[in-house]
Amino acid sequence: MPSMTGHSASTTAIGSHPRAVNGKPVMFNHVSLSHIDIDHAHEPDQSVSQLAQIDHDSSICRVDTTADPAAGRRDLVQLPKAHLHMHFTGSMTVSRLKQMSSAHHIQLDSELIDTHPLRVPPDRRGWYRFQRLYDMARRCVKTEKDIRTIVDDAARIDALEGVRILEIQVTPDSYAPIMGGLTPALEVMLDEAKKASVRHHIAVGVIVAASRTSHPLKARTLARLAVKYAGDEPGTVVGFGLSNDERSGNTADFAPAFRIAAMGGLPLMPHAGELLGPDHIRQTLDELHPTRIGHGVRAYTDPQLLQRLSREHITVELCPASNVGMGVFVDKQHVPLRQIFEAHVPIALSADDPLLFGERVEQQYQDAREIHGFTDHELAQLARDSINGSVMNERYRAPALAQIDQWEKSRAN
Ligand SMILES: [Zn+2]
Repeated sequence: MPSMTGHSASTTAIGSHPRAVNGKPVMFNHVSLSHIDIDHAHEPDQSVSQLAQIDHDSSICRVDTTADPAAGRRDLVQLPKAHLHMHFTGSMTVSRLKQMSSAHHIQLDSELIDTHPLRVPPDRRGWYRFQRLYDMARRCVKTEKDIRTIVDDAARIDALEGVRILEIQVTPDSYAPIMGGLTPALEVMLDEAKKASVRHHIAVGVIVAASRTSHPLKARTLARLAVKYAGDEPGTVVGFGLSNDERSGNTADFAPAFRIAAMGGLPLMPHAGELLGPDHIRQTLDELHPTRIGHGVRAYTDPQLLQRLSREHITVELCPASNVGMGVFVDKQHVPLRQIFEAHVPIALSADDPLLFGERVEQQYQDAREIHGFTDHELAQLARDSINGSVMNERYRAPALAQIDQWEKSRAN
């Protein structure tokens, strides 16, 4: 278990917190979730061994057996980190998905449950395979209890991997039909994020993401909804994003939605530079004025763009396993993590969709060490970048940063 000392998830009611938008402080709206009073939908907390048993087919709860203090290789589970790019349905474990599919009598494609995602032949990877499997998983989410379970699992598993701040991304319109509308769908997610934060000693905020495949007017509706719940505490909406196939839709058409979100005080984190290259990252910077970029990995071919990202302190949410799973790079060795790091672009290593890519966030740090040769000092810097890239309240970030310093000082050679 990672040490949780010094980190306290707050149960404080959502309040007004100033945040600068275009240099002007913006006060968040007061919102209350007090009218939501739904019986807690979960089983009691499970022990690590129970979890490990349940999730035998995923990489969670792994003790870092490669940690070797004598060689200066510290335990990466103990390294405090922020997880800034993970999607709601994609956060599920395969075993949880199997459980939900069997409860709802839904047949799952064996490709989703039996095939290791990173061992799919390169010519069979790509967006369409991903979307088909993601949609299949989403069909298994049919009740409020399912929604709560997914949020709780994400918080619990990430906490076990040393994540102190999780900003989980949701597109509430996908779940509006089962909850009777956009507002109740989002409110259930926020309520559970708040409760799971307390339960698992992690700060869970929610990023509302519009889909590039939906009409831009829908994105505006979502932005208005997101602003109503804006905050920087667990159980609030902490940002506004834009997801789905980067090649769909016209980025500029989403600018009005992003303006609504920005005027409401929300940080902005659209996907860009995953399936398209530097030109689209540049367009996204110019049109949507993001706080962070979801992915951004394909900036690596453009030194001027890397300089700009570094100069403007725009964190890129790099998801190496996802890049390989989507066929953006043929294998992990080719993910340009080292190049982007050495260009001084802040990086938040993330898992994107563990359900579809078979790995969670801590494995991304392991790979940085094992595949890309990151030293403990450099891994600590990656963790700092992730915490600094978080948009949650300083009182969640400051203790994590202090603990990263301690991690780095501990047992050093
Ligand atoms: Zn994503």
